[in-house]
Amino acid sequence: MRDCALSGPLYYQENTLAGILFIISAPSGSGKSTLVNHLRSLLTGLEFSVSYTTRKPRGTERPDKEYHYVSRDRFQEMKDRGEFLESAEVFGNYYGTACQSLADAQAAGNDLLLDIDVQGAAQVRERVPDAVSIFVLPPTPEILKERLRHRSIAEGKLDEAEIGRRLAKARGEIENYRQYRYILINDILEDAVEALTAIVITERALRHGAPPDPETARMMQLADKCRQGNSSDRLYGVLSSFGLLDMHATRA
Ligand code: ADP
Ligand code: 5GP
Repeated sequence: MRDCALSGPLYYQENTLAGILFIISAPSGSGKSTLVNHLRSLLTGLEFSVSYTTRKPRGTERPDKEYHYVSRDRFQEMKDRGEFLESAEVFGNYYGTACQSLADAQAAGNDLLLDIDVQGAAQVRERVPDAVSIFVLPPTPEILKERLRHRSIAEGKLDEAEIGRRLAKARGEIENYRQYRYILINDILEDAVEALTAIVITERALRHGAPPDPETARMMQLADKCRQGNSSDRLYGVLSSFGLLDMHATRA
């Protein structure tokens, strides 16, 4: 396996004609997996990177589908061998993206989507400056709590302590939103799915450089509204609900 954990940027797009690297991050429970599943059913040419994790499967999750589930020892071995593009500890478990995912997507000429946390996203941006990063936000803390509870119930066990931990962490994660190229507020699901699809189609069109057809032009307008800096009004409301307005006001 290629060792991609050594220092220095990888310049994923520039050195090859292979696809775009998309990074998507969000506070847990924002609806990122739901959005990604819809996106994958709508678009071809987009691979999803299955991460390695030391956490146990949850609900209906299956080995090697949602994650590759490994022991802590195995994870550390992989890390020591430089097999991860990035890795991080999240909620007491380790998560990592295998270099092999990139190699496979490059070989197939596909785009690759990484669903990773803010720490991992920062590592990838260093290594792959051209990566397209998307941050998904829930509309309010109350809605985030509701979604976390809903998922917990659907998985057959309501774990209020775990929900509390994830809610408490959300605010700190949201503080990183400025590091991302696009901000996507997941309020009405179908609107958010369309906006996410628009972002991927837009980035593909921009790389191609060909004049867009009318539908692509419409998608580009939609994506433009999610660009960092263009989403101020709605973003203002979300940041306010999470008590992060000062940060927005002082750094805008
Ligand atoms: P994440 O991957 O960000 O942790 P999930 O995709 O598992 O979050 O979504 C958390 C819960 O919220 C799930 O029960 C999902 O069905 C629900 N959900 C996701 N998006 C929406 C939405 N736009 N409106 C209502 N419920 C949603
Ligand atoms: P969950 O356990 O709820 O599936 O994921 C918890 C968090 O870990 C989410 O924020 C998710 O994006 C993140 N995550 C999943 N896979 C990876 C990975 O490979 N690397 C990093 N850094 N984070 C990951």
